[in-house]
Amino acid sequence: MDQASKKGLPLHVMMLIGFSVGLIGGLLVNSFVGSETGWVLWITTNITGPIGQIFLRLLFMLVLPLLFSALVIGVAEMGDLKVLGRAGIKSLLFTVFVSAIAVVIGMVMVNLFRPGAGVDPLVAQQLLEQGKAGAANIVENSKSAEAGGNFFIELIPTNVFRAAADNDILPVMVFAMLFGIGVVMVRSSATDHLLKSIEGLFEVMMKLIGLVIKLAPYAIACLMFNLSALFGWDLLMRLAAFVGVAVGAMAIHMFVVYPLLVWTMGGMNPLKFFSSIREAVVVSFSTASSNASLPVSMRVAEEQLGLPRKIARFVLTVGATANQNGTALFEGVTVLFLAQFFGVDLSLSQQFVVMLICILGGVGTAGVPGGSLPVVAMILGIVGVPPEGIGLILGVDRLLDMCRTTLNVTGDLVVATVVSRGEEDSPDEDTPAPVAA
Ligand code: ASP
Repeated sequence: MDQASKKGLPLHVMMLIGFSVGLIGGLLVNSFVGSETGWVLWITTNITGPIGQIFLRLLFMLVLPLLFSALVIGVAEMGDLKVLGRAGIKSLLFTVFVSAIAVVIGMVMVNLFRPGAGVDPLVAQQLLEQGKAGAANIVENSKSAEAGGNFFIELIPTNVFRAAADNDILPVMVFAMLFGIGVVMVRSSATDHLLKSIEGLFEVMMKLIGLVIKLAPYAIACLMFNLSALFGWDLLMRLAAFVGVAVGAMAIHMFVVYPLLVWTMGGMNPLKFFSSIREAVVVSFSTASSNASLPVSMRVAEEQLGLPRKIARFVLTVGATANQNGTALFEGVTVLFLAQFFGVDLSLSQQFVVMLICILGGVGTAGVPGGSLPVVAMILGIVGVPPEGIGLILGVDRLLDMCRTTLNVTGDLVVATVVSRGEEDSPDEDTPAPVAA
């Protein structure tokens, strides 16, 4: 998703330029002209607004099939009990457990430090109203999320197509998970074909998202212009606080939670663990892609950590797509931050829904640079925050992407270490690893 354009600058540099151009333009307008001036209004209504909207709608258009296919593939691979039996179940449970810890750390930190709070409520409300028009039917659905006791019942769609059409995303994700489990349980030649087709769907969606993301630099410039013309310098302060909280939460997960897990559940000295995985850390940080880091993390697992080859291959290959603690944490932090920014009060039960979506989001996010952006845009719509807010974070996303990918890849190595404990290597039985989506 982040290929350097053949002759021009790499995409993330273009995104940073778009971000800066939009930001500076908007700040100048905010400081000297005011966002309500005639020609500024004309530009925001007829040019920057529509361009930003087109980009967001393209992301929305792709997110459902992308999530569905990624989840089915992720679960089908992770739960492939015939391949690894006990290790498969252990990986699945452990992935959900550690992702939940990550999301909770992130969400607690945002609630504690409130990096997005304190924006002028009138200005925020103005944007919220505009955003609501665009995401009206999605927002409608967030109301049903509050219906406390019925929450678990409503997780199960009576009609999955209606749920999908209503953008009722959690029931669709539940369906996709069950679908994946079903595929694992049947495993005939027909279901193998079906799975192959779903892999095809995933690849097509990835390709299209890769194309859409090329528009990002222009869309970011437009979205940032609109936001900074409206919010002024306040925006920069909040953004810095957001980055601080996100990086802080990721650091806690990386340097407190992982070492504890490696030590207590993996039976390995955390210092040995971290010094062995240095190479994978450097590669994941610099590529911002779990998939691109896979060959290195496999080598590290086998040669430096000395994990059984069969388990390391399985856990790491599947984990590159399906075990993304950093991504889950980031999605939670971002959604809550933007909710604070736009003055959207999320009740505890709504935050619980966000948490669940983020845990599943970690499974359903592709292991490529910027893979979580469509998922974040979608969750924003669900909880009634203007998806335009994504423009705010896109400019600083590369740095956060590098950090969360490091967390994702380290997390895969943690799972591999824990799952390997007590398992023997069997060099002769060289099970082919599932192919990373
Ligand atoms: N870049 C991340 C990864 O590859 C995915 C994301 O959160 O955007 O692991």
